Amino acid sequence: MAEYDVIVIGGGPGGYIAAERLAAAGRSVLLAEPVSLGGTCLNVGCIPTKALLNSVKLYHQSQRSAQFGVTAESVAYDWAGIQAWKNMTISTLVGGVSKMLSKHGVEVVKAPGRLLAGNQVEVDGVCHQGRDIIVATGSVPVWPNIPGVADNPGVVDSTGLLSIDQVPRRLAIIGGGVIGVEFASIFSRLGVAVQVIEMMDEILPFMDPDMARCVRTGMSGVEFQLGATVESIDGTTVRYSKAGKAASVEADLVLMAVGRRPQLEGWGAQEIGVNLDRGVVVDDRMRTNLEHVWAVGDVTGKSLLAHAAYRMGEVAAANILGGGPGQSVRWDTIPWAVYAYPEAAGVGLTAAECARRGIAVEQVTTPLVQSGRFVAEHGLSRTGLVKVIAETDSRVIRGVQMVGPYAPETIWGAAAVLEMEFTVEDVQQLVFPHPSISEGIREAVWAFPRKD
Ligand code: FAD
Repeated sequence: MAEYDVIVIGGGPGGYIAAERLAAAGRSVLLAEPVSLGGTCLNVGCIPTKALLNSVKLYHQSQRSAQFGVTAESVAYDWAGIQAWKNMTISTLVGGVSKMLSKHGVEVVKAPGRLLAGNQVEVDGVCHQGRDIIVATGSVPVWPNIPGVADNPGVVDSTGLLSIDQVPRRLAIIGGGVIGVEFASIFSRLGVAVQVIEMMDEILPFMDPDMARCVRTGMSGVEFQLGATVESIDGTTVRYSKAGKAASVEADLVLMAVGRRPQLEGWGAQEIGVNLDRGVVVDDRMRTNLEHVWAVGDVTGKSLLAHAAYRMGEVAAANILGGGPGQSVRWDTIPWAVYAYPEAAGVGLTAAECARRGIAVEQVTTPLVQSGRFVAEHGLSRTGLVKVIAETDSRVIRGVQMVGPYAPETIWGAAAVLEMEFTVEDVQQLVFPHPSISEGIREAVWAFPRKD
């Protein structure tokens, strides 16, 4: 039986970053990954969707280039070419992860891992002993038990939609969360008639409702059915009820995008007695109830985002290496991003969440047309907003949300503001590059009523 300092189960962002950090610090690391290094994110998540979004953005901009004084004739897209670009992007990045792990001496086995008693892990029929174990098995799509869904080739999940051979004429998307909204953006800009059917009264329910509305109204070409509950799917016809009335959407393909759930099966969680709730129960240092067993990423159900998985992986690795102050995850300062058209991003609390926690706040919303770069690239579009939320007494900033181009690139600055517990007045002292979208944050903090 081979012995390792650490055995990592799962090679997505949470698992591979932990393996890299630990191996770089001189620990012997075995990583078990049955499918492909990079996990959901690199293979069927963050990266392929962004490759598609980029191709679609070029197509859309080329069609509208005349308003910027540029003539582009015979603009067309080639789906096979778009897929080839996406696949090349994936293989480049997966190859990069593989090289990086091998450079640091991580032993990678292409097989599933199963946790056994005494911190042993069975990989490909062989038992290995680990001093520490990191579980990073990620998440899988939720398939609700709706009549007509099971074994229906007309209904796909995000992984299925990423690799279709032909673009459908009409696409119905069940679920107005991040994944549904990103795919709606991709396909609507290719000219597909897209309908999003969402049970809640607004899409992107984790967002401030004003900001989510700004995203929705900016998604020209997409039709939304809000407050609509899907009752059944008949072929590719989605039947739903809305305000007590029955209605349906005719489509050529249906995307099921109602969310993802932690992967709790197949790696020994139940057999070994790992505490489970929505996901693997962990503390802020990523410890489970079992000694020397850690869990990171989507499998914890804490935050189903790749950068949250990276942070959890780094924190687990740091604690295995000796811990120390600050080696814990601060859940409230993890930013999020929506790569739709328009883009959106945010960090911290919404006003509703502040109210739930009994925190008195003031909020300011300003339009992005105050940014020169925004106007230079988008004219006087209304699809751009910044919202800043600060505690009434202390003026400490508790939340920032942005809708508009480059929001995902800009939001890390706001995350730093929250991490450092800066006040409105602190941020007023910062200098923002001009012209930039980030200036929207400066405009918002200066729009707060003066505090004398
Ligand atoms: P995963 O990436 O899911 O990796 C888990 C790995 O564990 C998998 O490779 C799996 O094969 C492996 N595994 C499972 N069982 C076993 C076992 N028994 N033994 C060994 N290995 C096992 N997040 C963002 O932050 N930004 C985005 O833009 C974004 N876009 C997304 C778009 C889509 C369409 C989807 C589906 C997701 C997107 N996400 C995005 C979410 C992001 O992909 C996940 O949050 C991230 O991949 C989680 O990382 P992870 O390491 O926890 O798990």
